Amino acid sequence: MAGLLFGTGGTPHSAKTPSTIDGIERIAELGLGCMELEFVQGVRMGEAGARLVAETAAKLGIELTAHAPYFINLNAREPEKLRASQNRILQTARIASLCGAESITFHPAFYLGDSPEKTYTTVKKYLGEILDELKRENNRVWIRPEIMGKPSQFGTLEEILNLSTELERVAPCIDFAHWHARTGGFNSYPEFVSILEQVKERLGRAALDNMHIHVSGINYGSKGERNHLNLRESDFQYIELIQALKDYDAKGVVICESPNLEEDAQLLQATYRHLPKTG
Ligand SMILES: [Zn+2]
Repeated sequence: MAGLLFGTGGTPHSAKTPSTIDGIERIAELGLGCMELEFVQGVRMGEAGARLVAETAAKLGIELTAHAPYFINLNAREPEKLRASQNRILQTARIASLCGAESITFHPAFYLGDSPEKTYTTVKKYLGEILDELKRENNRVWIRPEIMGKPSQFGTLEEILNLSTELERVAPCIDFAHWHARTGGFNSYPEFVSILEQVKERLGRAALDNMHIHVSGINYGSKGERNHLNLRESDFQYIELIQALKDYDAKGVVICESPNLEEDAQLLQATYRHLPKTG
C-alpha cells in the first residue's frame, strides 16, 4: 500500500442510497480510498451481494474493511452468549473475505467485574478458537480487536498489543478517539508518537505498514467515551495525529467515524496530503 488511505465507517451520507454499493461508488467520487462495511447490527449480507461488493470495490480501487456486530462479549458468563459472540466474529470474517476486505474489527469484551488479567486469559482463549476455525477455512482476513473508549470495556492499548503479539493473524485496530476518551490524555504529537513507538517495538515495523485506524472527534467524561463528535467540534488534536502518522510513514486505512463521516474523512485526507513530513 502506498501510504494511508482515508474513508468512512459505513456508507457516506451523500451516497445516492445507504446501500454498500452506492457507498463504495460515492467513496470513489469523493476521491477517498477506503470504506468500512458496518455489520454493527448483524451480518445480513448474502454471498451474491458480497461478490458484487468485491467486484465494485476492485473496479474502483477502493480498499474495504469490516466492523463486526456490537453484540459481542468474549467474556460473557453464559455459554450461549459466548458462542453467539464467536459466531458473529466468524460471520464477519467470512463475509469480509468474500467482499475482498482484508481486515475486520470488533469490540472484544466487558470485564463484568473480573480482573483485567482474568478477562485477558478468557478473551485470548475464545479468540484463539475463532482463529483456529478461520485457519481451517483458509480465511486470511486480519482479525483486529479494537482499542475501546470506556474503562468497563476490555481493550486497553496494552491488552490489544498483547493479544496481537500472542496470537497469529491478530493485529490492533487503533481507535485514537477511544484511547483519548478513556485516558483523558493521548491527545498530542508526543503522545501519538509514543503509541506508534509501542506498536513498532511490540509488533515490528510491519505493523506500521499495515494499520487499521479509527478516528473521530469524541465527547467523554469520567466513564470514558460518551459519543462521537465532528472533529472541529471536539478537542481532538487530529492535525498532531496526522503529523505523527506521516512522520512514521504509517500505511494502511484510516476510518473516520465522526457523525459527518465523509466531511471529516476528507478533512483528514487533506491534512495528510498538505502537511510536510517533519520527523
Ligand atoms: Zn468500533
